[in-house]
Amino acid sequence: SDSHFPVPISPSQFDYSLHYPQIFTSTDQVDGSRKVQFADIGCGFGGLLISLSTLFPETLMIGMELRDKVTEYVKERILSLRVTNPGQYQNVSVVRTNSMKYIPNYFEKAQLTKMFFLFPDPHFKEKNHRRRVISPFLLDEYAYVLKPALTEKELEADPVVKLLSSATEEGQKVARNGGQTFQAVFRRIVPSDQT
Ligand code: SAM
Repeated sequence: SDSHFPVPISPSQFDYSLHYPQIFTSTDQVDGSRKVQFADIGCGFGGLLISLSTLFPETLMIGMELRDKVTEYVKERILSLRVTNPGQYQNVSVVRTNSMKYIPNYFEKAQLTKMFFLFPDPHFKEKNHRRRVISPFLLDEYAYVLKPALTEKELEADPVVKLLSSATEEGQKVARNGGQTFQAVFRRIVPSDQT
């Protein structure tokens, strides 16, 4: 059951000051305009977040991870990086949650500029397909929280794209084992009557 971890009842109830204490002021909390923009879904041990943290020091980002011990590890990893690198890694945090159930509890419509799904568990057996974090019934939800995406040109110039296959631990394992990586970056389609 998911009942043993707390879930905000709505995005406005997500306590930013707890996750980003050094850079998130009480004025920010009241003002409400400074929000998480990157989410790493099933972040595992947090390698991508750590790389992105220094690449986008002004952007608030969060990892979502189902496994308790792994989430605790990422928390510790971030806290110790904050201690050894004063002023850095303040924009990155992690929550233990089931991203397949609770994304709308964390993010408002069009809040996120980037969502990452790196090396999600494939769940090969048909009876386990319902556990796939990328599945048709969840795409609407992901589209809801995403801002309209980049043009191809912007994508090419985006430094994050280069990290997708190499920054996480799973990606490094695949590279070590001489495996192949297939990258897919999706664009949210904007209906013509919307901007
Ligand atoms: N993205 C990381 C990487 O590339 O190293 C981890 C990849 S690992 C194969 C998949 C991760 O997704 C696991 O850590 C797993 O616990 C997490 N996960 C699976 N289902 C999830 C869910 N519903 N909500 C949050 N995390 C989930």
